[in-house]
Amino acid sequence: MKILVINTGSSSIKYQLFDMDRQKALSSGLAEKIGESTGKLTHIKHVEKETGLTKVIKETIPDHRKGLLKIVNLLLDSKYGSIKEKSEIRAIGHRVVHGGEKFQAPAIIDRGVITAIKKNIPLAPLHNPSNLTGIEVAKTIFPDSLQVAVFDTAFHQSIPPKAYLYALPYELYEKHKVRRYGFHGTSHGYVAQKAADYLSKPLSELNMITIHLGNGASMAALKNGRCADTTMGMTPLEGLVMGTRCGDIDPALPFFLANHLKMSLKEIDDLVNKDSGLKGICGTNDMREVIEKKNAGEPMAKTALEIYCYRIKKYIGAYFAVLESLDCLVFTGGIGENAQDIRALCCQGLTKLGIKIDINKNKSRGDMGNKTIQINSSDNEVNILVVPTNEELKIALETKELIGSRSRLET
Ligand code: AMP
Repeated sequence: MKILVINTGSSSIKYQLFDMDRQKALSSGLAEKIGESTGKLTHIKHVEKETGLTKVIKETIPDHRKGLLKIVNLLLDSKYGSIKEKSEIRAIGHRVVHGGEKFQAPAIIDRGVITAIKKNIPLAPLHNPSNLTGIEVAKTIFPDSLQVAVFDTAFHQSIPPKAYLYALPYELYEKHKVRRYGFHGTSHGYVAQKAADYLSKPLSELNMITIHLGNGASMAALKNGRCADTTMGMTPLEGLVMGTRCGDIDPALPFFLANHLKMSLKEIDDLVNKDSGLKGICGTNDMREVIEKKNAGEPMAKTALEIYCYRIKKYIGAYFAVLESLDCLVFTGGIGENAQDIRALCCQGLTKLGIKIDINKNKSRGDMGNKTIQINSSDNEVNILVVPTNEELKIALETKELIGSRSRLET
């Protein structure tokens, strides 16, 4: 069975085609700068035991429909493609950022699901409209394939009210659904299951803290395998320090910026989302560059790393208290998987909680390819794992599970 996973942004379409019988990606790619003169489509055909065949097309992509049509042509191409006919694609799994309270699991897309995603636009004004565009376009190009929505928020719907309600007038929750939702759910769910598999234990018997550190960053506390709390909130701004987002701040700060610095709402929004985090402190949001700068002796890069890791360590302590006992700590995402110094700094001084990294094991990530590695120093401590995330594969797996044996014509 072949499943195409699509992640549609306001000016981009990221995709991956999977052969689900082997759980292998056949091809993947990114159409970017849609609607701009500098459009670009990068397509990779994955070739067994080789680096893959890459085709880059640099031409204007006027809209998402044209973008997806170009992608389909490449998927069908005799040299770069992996299928002979569109009908080989049994289902399309769409990443949808905000499912609100309605979706605790993936859903086969019908009119009701589309209406519900539209209803959640006020909660994710930047993402849900693009995700809907992806769905509409895919429906016209693949009329015979099942379409499935997989929500970033769904995994966190098990969080109890004491963790998801803000101490604001309750009416705001009742009437406007103001609450913590959490994001990166696909990644937290994927690495949690991988960690359980690695430890040969049912996920439902494990208390875990999963730490996703990419351009965006979030943590989740899992009690008996189900999410009990997470750092991102009603929007992805809350919680950890990120590439360009500030994470937790005093909620009164925007009033100060407006009243004393005369900043507009839009300027404050841009400041906290696009110009803060690592970038705001040391000028770059790319962790590799931050580490290079720190190694070159730049004091603000060192400060940025300290703030970044301090926030994570603080949440490890908080989530330890939430869970009351901890079996496993998981690092994932571009930074969590690759930056050994960050992992070490986040766990420094936590020996009394049973959290202790082995310096040599922590170094070995580079040799392990795509495998899970264990980096805690001894067996009777908290298991500390580095698990490569794969959000696209998780979307494909959830899509496959949902459609089960349904035929194409049932929808
Ligand atoms: P992601 O959003 O998961 O792709 O992660 C992107 C982040 O991972 C960027 O900040 C990268 O600088 C960071 N990253 C990727 N590789 C490394 C590495 N080897 N060491 C440190 N950070 C890395």
